[in-house]
Amino acid sequence: MSKSQYYTNALSNPVFKTVSKAASDLNLESYVIGGFVRDYILKRGDSKDIDIVAVGSGINLAQKVSNLLPGKPKVSVFKNYGTAMLKAGAIELEFVGARKESYQEDSRNPAVEEGTLADDQNRRDFTINAMALSLNDETFGELLDPFNGVEDLKNKIIRTPLDPDITFSDDPLRMLRAIRFATQLGFKIDKKSFDSITRNADRIKIISSERVVDELNKILASPKPSIGFAILNKTNILPHILPELSALKGVDEVKGQRHKDNFWHTLEVVDNIAKTTDNLWLRWAALLHDIGKAPTKKFDKKAGWTFHGHEFVGSKMVYKLFKRLKMPLNEKMKFVQKMVYMSSRPIVIASDVTDSAVRRLVFDAGEYIDDLMTLCEADITTKNPAKFKKYHTNFKKVRDKISEVEERDHIRNFQPPISGEEIIKTFNLKPSREIGIIKDAIKEAILEGKIPNEYEDAKLFMLQKGKELGLKTNQND
Ligand code: ATP
Repeated sequence: MSKSQYYTNALSNPVFKTVSKAASDLNLESYVIGGFVRDYILKRGDSKDIDIVAVGSGINLAQKVSNLLPGKPKVSVFKNYGTAMLKAGAIELEFVGARKESYQEDSRNPAVEEGTLADDQNRRDFTINAMALSLNDETFGELLDPFNGVEDLKNKIIRTPLDPDITFSDDPLRMLRAIRFATQLGFKIDKKSFDSITRNADRIKIISSERVVDELNKILASPKPSIGFAILNKTNILPHILPELSALKGVDEVKGQRHKDNFWHTLEVVDNIAKTTDNLWLRWAALLHDIGKAPTKKFDKKAGWTFHGHEFVGSKMVYKLFKRLKMPLNEKMKFVQKMVYMSSRPIVIASDVTDSAVRRLVFDAGEYIDDLMTLCEADITTKNPAKFKKYHTNFKKVRDKISEVEERDHIRNFQPPISGEEIIKTFNLKPSREIGIIKDAIKEAILEGKIPNEYEDAKLFMLQKGKELGLKTNQND
């Protein structure tokens, strides 16, 4: 296939001809640019987000395109940014006018001027994101690749089109985007760009948390997230955005005793978990599961290095971290907290798996018991093959026991078989402490395996307990 045929094939969706027609009606040039072109060459699957750049008004072009499309889809206009968006079936088209821009030193708001296609390509973040395909009649499907993006794609290189100090200081978020693309695509960041990121690392401070978190989520969602966190560490961006993780770095030694480097351990855990789950929040839990170890680290003459209570401290830190980064403080955050808080529980019981310990574990973890086990399995990073095998075998025993206990006792979504109301009625009680005492006693008896999680057994137990407390039943009246 000829090169021109190859690129024209990228534009086989009829919507491109519509854009082309609209642009020609308005007498302006238009191009597909950025991620769509990159992902086509990478064969990353058909991108549904398509960026169109118009040399002229992107908003006018969007309106014209809508007029030509069946059903005239709604155009959303973002006047402040000079962009417009519309949906054509499953495809989302974003229109922008070509521009030159430069950000002010201390401001996040760009000063924008109209420009040519070449100006617009100059202000793109990376050579691989600056490629454009012409939608103009005479040159339809022609590739405009002024910075050799195709070559960089082939060589798996992330590189800025201009001097990286200019590109990164114009919008420091691009430093994170470089690291994110390197992680997603398994690319290397070009040395000049890498050094510039290191030099400009502290500029990341002016970027809004929302944009930072977007990139962190994409790094975490990648097949091997450690690539990104290792670069964040090496370029020194990490302490500006996740100081809790930087604080885990390093190995201390006292009297010949060392602890493991909890930062690199954490990255291994994150990579392990990325192999078994797409759940972003479980990946966050893996990333944060040891953050309580930095503030709790102590050397004890007898016990050696200890991190007492790090799970509790860590779970409190999760809240602060989510709040600082303006992440959701809803059930997602609570899930991460719960995972961090419970992250050692299965380890503690694994060497001696009793029914009651497993029942308590399932009771406390509730619907998240499987996620918790997945986290604990990912946490096994020992390089000693015998230990590796032993730990996995032990967790397998815990999992088997969980299934067994679950089948029998249904503890996962534990609802006590006897309600407070029934206790009140049975003993003719006014609201009082006895109700709570009996309820707790029933729960404890079930978790300890003294009685099965069944109504009849629980009722007998309740009557017995009431008697011990000197209560009379209605029937005795
Ligand atoms: P993904 O969809 O995986 O995030 P993408 O490259 O499509 O990848 P978008 O954020 O949609 O990412 O950006 C679309 C295009 O806009 C990019 O390919 C790039 O050309 C340009 N772009 C986006 N953000 C920036 C930025 N901060 N600085 C410069 N150019 C950018």
